[in-house]
Amino acid sequence: MIRRVAVLGSTGSIGLNALKVIEANPERYAVCALAAATSCHVLAEQALRHRQALLYLSDPKAENTLVQLLPAAGGRIIKGKKALPLLIKDSAPDVVINAVSGSDGLEFTLASLEAGIPLALANKESLVMAGDLVMNLAKNKNVEIIPLDSEHSALAQIWPDHDNGQVRNIWLTGSGGPFLNFSKQQMDSITPAMALKHPVWRMGPKISVDSATMMNKGLEVIEAALLFSLDYERIRVVIHPQSLVHGLIEMHDGSWTAQMGPADMRQPIAWALSRPERLPATWPVLNLWDMGNLSFSQPDYERFPALPLALQAGKAGGSTPCLLNAANEVAVDAFLAGRLPFTAITACVEAVLNELPAEAGSCLESIMAAHHKARHAARRWIAEME
Ligand code: MG
Repeated sequence: MIRRVAVLGSTGSIGLNALKVIEANPERYAVCALAAATSCHVLAEQALRHRQALLYLSDPKAENTLVQLLPAAGGRIIKGKKALPLLIKDSAPDVVINAVSGSDGLEFTLASLEAGIPLALANKESLVMAGDLVMNLAKNKNVEIIPLDSEHSALAQIWPDHDNGQVRNIWLTGSGGPFLNFSKQQMDSITPAMALKHPVWRMGPKISVDSATMMNKGLEVIEAALLFSLDYERIRVVIHPQSLVHGLIEMHDGSWTAQMGPADMRQPIAWALSRPERLPATWPVLNLWDMGNLSFSQPDYERFPALPLALQAGKAGGSTPCLLNAANEVAVDAFLAGRLPFTAITACVEAVLNELPAEAGSCLESIMAAHHKARHAARRWIAEME
């Protein structure tokens, strides 16, 4: 039977890779929904390839352009206030891929879980912002969340079947980003163009900058604590510049299991769709003979203060991770716009966390209130810096 897949965030890097996997396996998968924010030209071209898919753009201007680009597909475009729940309901997916970038992804996560559809989640921000809300909703609706972040997918792929009590620690690898070997001084002159050039992964602008500051790894630790129900003490980060080992599990008896693969998101995407089966690779595979050395080292908290800051926020819990995420998004945007030095991204997030009190509430209203408060505080901090 062909499985119906909704690809939300279809014009971003994970979305494009998801479509490649689906298109390479037409006897198994069909795209039933495509959603994006503003990239109407790319979405129009995808809509021509997937003629059954319902379409959604969150930006009204882009939506108007899409109608002009594809007059014949007008009936497939889902609009209006309740568009998101409608998109999910009417397209009737067997699985939703949420590959939306940043906090905009939260409403897609909630809409998918509300509808009771298994969710392959690449949007880590929705877990960081609203971890308890998302995890409780998944539990109450009895819906699976399948990790679609390479490290978390790696851990899910090797998680021991029978007894979770066997796991002592989990280890997330990080490439270290483009500035792994920069001195503190060199970091003062990092430009957006430099930060967008990741040594291993091809990704969108937000996550590329997060990888460069290592905030991404901090967000991933918070994501892992929720997905695998583990204390922060048992989630470790290790720098591994080759990015061939994606995650490791350390057992109580000192035995380790690692998941390896090329730095290519098609493998985790394919696994999320096909597990427990595995699809034949239509992406590059490893050749151990040519691989050379693999290295592992401890992250440097002093040069990459975003990582310990995020770990602290995760441990504090409540609204703190949401405040961290919101302030980071504003600071990353300001850096990309040339309004903030690279090293001030983390300084801005820290200032916002120091200024705003953490709250305990986990309802959507209180989460969104904290989100907007932190965005406002970050904007003010940046304006004062200029
Ligand atoms: Mg990752």
